[in-house]
Amino acid sequence: MYHRSPHATRRNTRVSATILIVEDEYAVARGVQYALQQEGYQVAMAQSGEEGYEFATQHAPDLVILDVRLPGIDGFETLRRMRAAGSRAPVLMLTARDDEVDKVIGLELGADDYLTKPFGLRELMSRIKALLRRAYGDLADAAGGRLLRHGDLVVDLERRRVQRGERRLSLTATEFEILRHLASRPGRVFSRRELLELVRDYEALDQDEKTINVHISHLREKLEDDPADPVFILTVRGAGYAFAER
Ligand code: CA
Repeated sequence: MYHRSPHATRRNTRVSATILIVEDEYAVARGVQYALQQEGYQVAMAQSGEEGYEFATQHAPDLVILDVRLPGIDGFETLRRMRAAGSRAPVLMLTARDDEVDKVIGLELGADDYLTKPFGLRELMSRIKALLRRAYGDLADAAGGRLLRHGDLVVDLERRRVQRGERRLSLTATEFEILRHLASRPGRVFSRRELLELVRDYEALDQDEKTINVHISHLREKLEDDPADPVFILTVRGAGYAFAER
């Protein structure tokens, strides 16, 4: 099974990027995990392509480190399935041989970068930071003061403040959490069920998915110029909600 950090750490107000490591070699996986945790990232581990795929599609990690050689389906097939399921997380592939590198480059499966084993942890870390910066802009730093910007909308993740231009918006804790999840991954569609799971820490457990609609509608009233014609939080019919891509 994959392992995740204890649930309690997610309640921490400092929200860091979650990185999934898919690697069956324990020593490599542990080394990478330790290095990432030292940098302040949350780390999840999977030991096979199937587990990695399951975690990636259910929990939407911010980045995936994916080994090519895995028991069961290999890294290439894992990546193909992830992309087919709509995962847009940046993927850094770990390869062991030159012919695997050729395949990573040649197949255009949607890997964002690769490293050939053996690799140094410093090199790994600089690749990861570059990938996160490319994918999420200011969200890149795990521990720094992070801001999400979209036009004149600014979400300050550390101070939990939201502004449009000079105007400070007053959001409830639940509204902030929903906005944070949506805005952290523009274009990524979140189902109502998923959003409900994500805000469980802030809400009574017996809420149903319709309450998400209510929160979204309140958020739009606060954020949007015209809540009936939103430009930030979009409805994806039959699927859920997504934050607008730039
Ligand atoms: Ca391996």
